Amino acid sequence: MSYRAELDSFLTSVQKPSRYSGGEYGSITKPNADVRFAFCFPDTYEIGMSHLGMKILYGLINSVENYSCERVFLPLPDMEEQMRSRNISLYSLESLEPINTFDFIGFTLQYELSYTNVLAMLDLAGLPLLSCDRENLTPLVIGGGPCTVNPEPIADFFDLFVIGEGEEVTLELLSLYEKHKSANSTKKEFLVEAANITGVYVPSLYTVAYNEDGTVSGITNEPIAPSTITKRIVADIDSAFYPSNFVVPFCEIVHDRASVEVLRGCIRGCRFCQAGYIYRPYREKSRGVIERQAADLCKNTGYAELSLLSLSTGDYAEIELLLREITEFTDNERVNLSLPSLRIDRFSKEMYDKLRSVRQSGLTFAPEAGTKRLRDVINKNLSDEEIMSGCAVAFSGGANSVKFYFMLGLPTETDDDIAGIAALVQQINSLYRSIARKGSLKVSVSLSTFIPKPFTPFQYEPQLSREEISRRQQLLRSLLDRRVNLSYSEYGTSLIEAALARGDRRLGEVILAAYRSGCKLDSWGEYFSFSKWNAAFQSCGIDPKFYAGRERGYDEVLPWSHIDIGVSAEFFIRERERSRNAQTTPNCREGCGGCNNSSCINNKRTC
Ligand code: SF4
Repeated sequence: MSYRAELDSFLTSVQKPSRYSGGEYGSITKPNADVRFAFCFPDTYEIGMSHLGMKILYGLINSVENYSCERVFLPLPDMEEQMRSRNISLYSLESLEPINTFDFIGFTLQYELSYTNVLAMLDLAGLPLLSCDRENLTPLVIGGGPCTVNPEPIADFFDLFVIGEGEEVTLELLSLYEKHKSANSTKKEFLVEAANITGVYVPSLYTVAYNEDGTVSGITNEPIAPSTITKRIVADIDSAFYPSNFVVPFCEIVHDRASVEVLRGCIRGCRFCQAGYIYRPYREKSRGVIERQAADLCKNTGYAELSLLSLSTGDYAEIELLLREITEFTDNERVNLSLPSLRIDRFSKEMYDKLRSVRQSGLTFAPEAGTKRLRDVINKNLSDEEIMSGCAVAFSGGANSVKFYFMLGLPTETDDDIAGIAALVQQINSLYRSIARKGSLKVSVSLSTFIPKPFTPFQYEPQLSREEISRRQQLLRSLLDRRVNLSYSEYGTSLIEAALARGDRRLGEVILAAYRSGCKLDSWGEYFSFSKWNAAFQSCGIDPKFYAGRERGYDEVLPWSHIDIGVSAEFFIRERERSRNAQTTPNCREGCGGCNNSSCINNKRTC
């Protein structure tokens, strides 16, 4: 049953109707598919439509003749109100049919503050929120994405999680489901077999026990499920599926361009960065494959902007050659090229000349800390000289604005490190004046609060208190030139994110209470309510600081200890100890740091 006629009668009364109307160029409708997958992005259309993982899995599932994948996003409050008053259940944008009729409802979990959005979408779909209350085989509610490396806080809501890269395991899962659907299997029969696919975690087959002090004492698997769930990785990203077409939106979205992933993983090992560890090992796509995928996408979508995506595109081994070759195509076709994730020490004159986006919008870099000492603690491996020389390249080319990202509350940070941020900004201003000789440099500093994340060397570290972070923010404001545009994140969101990131299964109750009290769209400043979250924690008798502000011992059973992302706990402990002495670890290209990643072709050590 399509909602087309009903939607036509009121969509013009909500903001941006094209978020909800479907029918975009490049969307795929397969009414006779045997297995239907609703791919849900738990945030707005503009954010979800910018997400590369969704585009990959959308193309992949639809590439199988009898499978279909349709897109679903979180409606904003004005649309939700209309839907509820008209009894319109959450629907997909391709068929405009309710997603509760689909076989799979798959969520991508990109950030912890989207968890209440997941509940809002299940609720709007008319489905019970808890996995144990959904007894039938269909629809199965599944989750993937980076947050699944610690899925425990949301374990009660999901039937299964896919941990790691989805290109291979998704099709294995759908194929297994097809078999069980035709055999009229029960949900449990399917889940038990699914739990034995590498990378699939079925939380209902695991029990968590706690010590009296509230820490986890153990996680026990049912004998039919593996004791450890191993992350899936795609060994050869050259031959992995990559879409040759994107759905092209009618309205403006956050990243509205063709994009090609050039590498996976990161050689760097910044000690706060979860992505840098969970996407290991480092794998590059061949230049020829990147160039073909870029040309196909630009031709098929009509986009005149192309982005080369990864965690650190400047680390691509043959970056200069790649840029030379790809700009032959982009110059000919009048396509604008952008490299969003650039390290300042990999920024050259040749790159600057080729990147019109940098020339137009100014430089954006993330030194993260104001002094070399603290950058060594976090293993950023970036000297003041490298920062200055990257800025000099840009200023010589005419750039007159720069935006820096720093973090407050990093382990071992002192007031000297905060003063170092102000000193660095002053040095950059002087450098600009010596090069440009006229006008003034526009400097923005964006300050986030350090959030310790699972599967990083800093997973053991506490997050600082609100009072201390506030004192450090004020200190920096007092030291910075008034003309510097300083922005900082709201402490409440960082606290809740930190609690959810390192939480255990008991937080499911808190997330549910927060949602029931009206929390939703929590990553949006205008919707986030710390008082509601705080009340939700209190109503469950749980203190968020137990998860966010407590240092973990090396012998503590971490809530994610049954998940194996391929990097050993010994390595994280060793790296944490090195951080205490501001000892750096070389990047994976300079020398293997011994993270013990069994899938890494550089792995020459046994730890
Ligand atoms: S095994 Fe060595 S080279 Fe490979 S990801 Fe780990 S530290 Fe880097």
